[in-house]
Amino acid sequence: MVGEGPVRSTGLPGDFRVLGAFRGGRRRHGIVRSGLGGRSRSPDAGSVLRGGGAWCGAPALDGGPLSLLHIEMAQRYRHAVGSADPFHKGLENGVLRATECPECGSTWFPPRQFCDADLSETTWYDLPGTGRIVAATRVHSPPPFGGIDVPYILASIRLDGVDGGITHRVVAEEIPERGTVVAVTFSNRQPAHPLLRIAFVVKEVTA
Ligand SMILES: [Zn+2]
Repeated sequence: MVGEGPVRSTGLPGDFRVLGAFRGGRRRHGIVRSGLGGRSRSPDAGSVLRGGGAWCGAPALDGGPLSLLHIEMAQRYRHAVGSADPFHKGLENGVLRATECPECGSTWFPPRQFCDADLSETTWYDLPGTGRIVAATRVHSPPPFGGIDVPYILASIRLDGVDGGITHRVVAEEIPERGTVVAVTFSNRQPAHPLLRIAFVVKEVTA
């Protein structure tokens, strides 16, 4: 049996805590140090240090159990959205936006900057924010960026007013049938991902 011992303060500088790792009642020892990636022994050599940073190894050459690692990482990204800026401004202002070719009238969602038929630069326009379910399922694992409680309903949605659609969350208890009319809703909170500003709700059941 491998388990965790009590976590207690070490009194060492930095974000250290002591975690004991044991198996079969025999406590093993190892050192993990957060932040700087260094390694050190505690005075009584009776603890595994851990923190929110990098793990630097724990001795297991004697056949003892490996220490359990508890690693928490937080990454902050800053992306330039470039030509998609009107789309992201639309998310902030409560509107879905698509693009249209001024020459041939083709439309796109997700938006494209150039028409793939005649290479004309497209123009932006607002969508009504409604659509119809093409297919839906219940998802039991969260997206990698988090921010959604599981399980949740994920659906492929053909949007009204554009030749395209989106696969996104539908706020519903039951899996909606194909053809169900949904409408986009916007959240004011700052989500983990910009597209989490939106979700869809059932507007009209047509099936
Ligand atoms: Zn075109």
